[in-house]
Amino acid sequence: VGEENADHVMSLIRSIPGFPKEGIIFRDFMPVLADARGLSILMDALEAALPVPADQFDAVAGLEARGFLFGPALAARLGKGFVAVRKAGKLPPETVHEDYALEYGTASIEIETSAVKPGDRVLVVDDLIATGGTAKAAADLIEKCGGTVVGFSFVMELEGLSGTDVLAGYPLSTLVTMP
Ligand code: AMP
Repeated sequence: VGEENADHVMSLIRSIPGFPKEGIIFRDFMPVLADARGLSILMDALEAALPVPADQFDAVAGLEARGFLFGPALAARLGKGFVAVRKAGKLPPETVHEDYALEYGTASIEIETSAVKPGDRVLVVDDLIATGGTAKAAADLIEKCGGTVVGFSFVMELEGLSGTDVLAGYPLSTLVTMP
């Protein structure tokens, strides 16, 4: 997308130390979405950096909530459908459920049973990968339905958390690596 465009997007990513709790630097890409040029560059960059060619998957799955903000736009650009991976308890039955470990405690995510069919090839997208736990749980969910995860696209990656190790074996692309 060019150095000047990359700098423009980087300049719009907001970092908030101590949110949502002490010791975390929250990386906020909302100002990128709010900026017409930033959004256009972001979408071009995601498309250019796909971890596998677009003819190798059928659908884009986005993780709640920020994966919902650009996942459908990316899917529409590529002529694919969109699958919402939601936090547990939001979807009507029938759903497929996956529990996963957080730093403290556990969390659960769900998809509608009919959203992924056996043989469907799915690209998973989210704004950020930290430990990789959420993305791995989403992959497990899709595979439980008989789908194949072809890879992952993230806007940001936090270094030093080995998130990408958790997803070892899957093609993966990230636009920006941050401390
Ligand atoms: P993880 O499962 O640890 O890879 O965490 C990824 C999920 O948590 C993504 O949905 C992110 O949006 C969110 N997340 C984790 N850490 C941060 C952070 N430092 N800033 C913004 N979002 C974060």
